[in-house]
Amino acid sequence: MMRELNLKEFQESKRISSRGYAIFSKDGQFQPYDFTRHPVGEHDVLVEILYAGICHSDIHTVRGEWGEREYPIVPGHEIAGEVIAVGKSVSKFAIGDWIGIGCMVNACQQCPTCLDHEEQFCDQTVWTYASEDVFHDREYTQGGYSNNIVVHENFGIKIPKSADLSRVAPLLCAGITTYSPLYRAGIKQGDKVGIVGLGGLGHMAVQYAASFGARVSVFATSESKRELAMELGAKEFINVKNQDEMQKVRKDFDVILSTVPASYEISKYLGLLKPKGEMIVVGLPSHQDPALLDANGLIWNFSRKLYSSLIGGIKETQEMLDYSIEHGIYPMVEMIGGSEIDWAYERVLKSDVKFRFVIDMKSLGV
Ligand code: NDP
Ligand code: ZN
Repeated sequence: MMRELNLKEFQESKRISSRGYAIFSKDGQFQPYDFTRHPVGEHDVLVEILYAGICHSDIHTVRGEWGEREYPIVPGHEIAGEVIAVGKSVSKFAIGDWIGIGCMVNACQQCPTCLDHEEQFCDQTVWTYASEDVFHDREYTQGGYSNNIVVHENFGIKIPKSADLSRVAPLLCAGITTYSPLYRAGIKQGDKVGIVGLGGLGHMAVQYAASFGARVSVFATSESKRELAMELGAKEFINVKNQDEMQKVRKDFDVILSTVPASYEISKYLGLLKPKGEMIVVGLPSHQDPALLDANGLIWNFSRKLYSSLIGGIKETQEMLDYSIEHGIYPMVEMIGGSEIDWAYERVLKSDVKFRFVIDMKSLGV
């Protein structure tokens, strides 16, 4: 067990042995994989991973939909676990603390965007997996479908012991990616908010928007999610495949957030905003099959705003986590073992997950 490792070893530049589930080519299957991680530095913590969520971004990445990648890849950027060792100058965490890790494990921490708490826009952000770690000899990072990870203390999120840890992991990406733009949009009591796509991100977005006091409408392709949308806090469900339902939708939305991971016409939703309304795009379809935006569609929807959002900074991620636990906002989780990842990916691709798969890392058996 990792817990039995001698702390002294970490401070003597010893690499950390890890075991995870890796994919070896874009059309491959997941297999157990042994590898090593950089030693625990002065400001690093070593985390025993207990749960890892499966984000649609993992699928886009390993299948080369956002560009070619180096293999093997151990994906996973929705991580919840326990601190099992700390570097000698760590002050944010102690052994035994619960910790969350999202899409980033490091950044320069000195540039204007880092100082502005937006580390996701730093030129040197180290992404949790499939990324060059410029602070560690450009080694290739491996993510959370594994038994442990080393992270700079400033990139760990504190998880209170009052949390239901088995449901926390998806907050680290699906949670922050939807909380951040909805919070920044300044949603007020009674505002009308549309959420497009009711998957991992979408079902968190509905809960946050409802908690901010919005009247939420869900735009979805899966009729089977109609009742669940209401349980999550929506007031209206529109099946976008049903032309009649779409035509009856009033064009008076204050904010629309799109989480769609496939090709679709952005202006179809832009046209549902009231003047000066805002549409935020967080879904990131493949480069081969992108979301479509025609300039005329944009121009003729005068005065509406269209913009994107990328996860959130570390400070805001902590705020999101604290807010979620305090308000009892959690994902709906389907817990799986590591041998079921390929099957889970196929179900995500069929929009057949309610609403996030989480891998129980005990299934690794280490
Ligand atoms: P999921 O697959 O869990 O959810 C997406 C949902 O979109 C599906 O459940 C489905 O819901 C709906 N959908 C699928 N295809 C279509 C379609 N053709 N037209 C309309 N709706 C469709 O994915 P995630 O929530 O994990 O991720 C969503 C997207 O967000 C991905 O592209 C991901 O890479 C991206 N992402 C972006 C981040 C950022 O920082 N910007 C961070 C994390 C993820 P329904 O059945 O309701 O139609
Ligand atoms: Zn993600």
